[in-house]
Amino acid sequence: MFELIPPNRGTDKWGSGHYHASRGTHLHNGVDKLAMAGSQLKSLTDGYVTKLGFAYADDLSYRYVQVSDGQGHDLRYFYLDPKVEVDQRVYKGDILGEVQNLGRRYAGIGNHFHFEVRLNGGFIDPEQYILTLRTGRVAA
Ligand SMILES: [Zn+2]
Repeated sequence: MFELIPPNRGTDKWGSGHYHASRGTHLHNGVDKLAMAGSQLKSLTDGYVTKLGFAYADDLSYRYVQVSDGQGHDLRYFYLDPKVEVDQRVYKGDILGEVQNLGRRYAGIGNHFHFEVRLNGGFIDPEQYILTLRTGRVAA
């Protein structure tokens, strides 16, 4: 399990990769986990692929994969070339896609995937969610 979850991207001119870091007009709603462009990203959980989305309206090459865990959480993995399809059953460790190169859009940024967790229409701290995956306990 642990090897699936890399450290966060450090702070650079684009900001910090941590949850709720400032993004000027809003707060960062996920975490940025270091990942090599072109590497294969594996699912953190069992679930179903419920959406393949676009990260930016002005550049449809950047995608995200949404996996729903069956317990109300929608997990979004951003900057991924999808290797799955909507409605596909996935299991922890299955490959969801290949990490895309963000440097083309944000020059000098540490390459990463952005991971966010949605619940009841809002966001929760992905680190807390990851912690429950590690301990098997659901956060109160
Ligand atoms: Zn991010």
